[in-house]
Amino acid sequence: MNMLAYILFFLRCKKLMQIICTSLFLGALSLVSYGTLSKASNSLDLSENLLVQSEIRKLKSRVNHLEYVTCLRKKKYPDVTFLTYKDRKRILITGGAGFVGSHLVDRLMIQGHEVTVIDNFFTGRKRNIEHWIGHENFELLHHDIVNPLYIEVDQIYHLASPASPPNYMYNPIKTIKTNTIGTINVLGLAKRVRARILLASTSEVYGDPEVHPQVEEYWGHVNPIGPRACYDEGKRVAETMCYAYAKQENLEVRVSRIFNTFGPRMHMNDGRVVSNFILQALQNEPITVYGDGTQTRSFQYVSDLVDGLIALMNSNYSQPVNLGNPEEHSVMEFAKIIKSLVGGDSKIVNRPAMQDDPQRRRPNISKALKYLNWKPRIAMIAGINRTIEYFRNELSRSQHSQRNFHPPDLV
Ligand code: NAD
Ligand code: UDP
Ligand code: UDP
Repeated sequence: MNMLAYILFFLRCKKLMQIICTSLFLGALSLVSYGTLSKASNSLDLSENLLVQSEIRKLKSRVNHLEYVTCLRKKKYPDVTFLTYKDRKRILITGGAGFVGSHLVDRLMIQGHEVTVIDNFFTGRKRNIEHWIGHENFELLHHDIVNPLYIEVDQIYHLASPASPPNYMYNPIKTIKTNTIGTINVLGLAKRVRARILLASTSEVYGDPEVHPQVEEYWGHVNPIGPRACYDEGKRVAETMCYAYAKQENLEVRVSRIFNTFGPRMHMNDGRVVSNFILQALQNEPITVYGDGTQTRSFQYVSDLVDGLIALMNSNYSQPVNLGNPEEHSVMEFAKIIKSLVGGDSKIVNRPAMQDDPQRRRPNISKALKYLNWKPRIAMIAGINRTIEYFRNELSRSQHSQRNFHPPDLV
């Protein structure tokens, strides 16, 4: 009997043990499940958080974009003079997004005129005139002047043409078309709307000159089939066409023969001597003198040229006028000047001479002085220092590829 009671007691205990074990197991299970669940809910929080953060990032970038657009729309323009309807002119500048053209745009806009730029951006850049885009007095047309153009204007500055030797030699046929067909189109436009037209011609019409310094009466010494002919002959025939339209159609024409000009907004890859030497010196690269460097040039700062162009356009003088700085330097001297102004360790090295490179160039500017009361005001060294600063900024800008919303320096 005792034995039986003992067995029963043992069985109950076993059951009890089973119950205790099962409860313990279930408890542990629920604890584990609770842990897993709370972990799951934590990870849910995390992914929600990530989602929110990504939405915030999207919103921030949208706000930045809107700020950018608004900044462009509400951008501050340089101050322009108010001109009455009577004094305000509608002025077309072909090639107005280029180096010289963009400075001319600045000056005419600031004077209060309505300015239309046409450019095919072959060597020009929107950036040069970005600070006027959206202004009520300014319009930019992406147009190639080899194609006809029908607009209404009072004055035309015809600058469209590549100007640096590597650029115009890159596509000589296009250079010829631009200077011939393009100029015919501009003259046809001027004839239709009875606008006065100023042609940006060049000292290259004198070729490799036998008369020194060059006077406007000199007919020049140009190789008609050499590598520079597309430009030199193109500009010569452009001049011829201007005077043909003046004679036959009674058109008012002005012809500026521009000598080497430099300043901010020259293209970094332009290939002309000023930009090449400054960029080489700034980067401690060899300064490349083509030939022995005895050939000479005379360099004018761009703001002086702009003064001269506007004075010529508004003068009564219709014969060609030289616009340049008569201070003459050999290319080797010029290399030494740039090296000393920039500093650095660049060596001056000689490279093969360019074919048909004019050996001497210096303007006689007595006509500009007499008829326009014009002569350059900016000393070459002062202009070069400003240009060095410009290229220094351009180099650091291209390294950091920052966008610049401020108007570039007006010269
Ligand atoms: P640039 O190359 O900076 O500017 C020329 C502009 O004309 C560029 O914006 C280019 O895109 C545009 N253009 C070229 N072909 C065109 C076409 N078919 N249709 C529309 N646009 C076209 O040169 P720059 O130094 O400013 O020279 C401007 C003018 O002055 C040129 O006519 C040049 O021959 C003359 N010029 C300049 C110098 C000088 O030293 N800068 C010297 C003599 C003459
Ligand atoms: N042209 C132009 N815009 C005008 C007027 C004329 O581009 O507003 C072009 C026209 O296409 C023509 C050229 O200028 O090829 C010369 O015009 P012009 O009237 O002198 O010659 P025509 O049309 O009689 O050949
Ligand atoms: N030149 C040079 N090194 C250069 C670029 C040009 O020696 O890196 C010379 C060129 O041979 C010419 C003068 O500098 O004698 C002016 O050249 P640029 O191309 O500026 O204009 P150009 O007056 O010949 O049209």
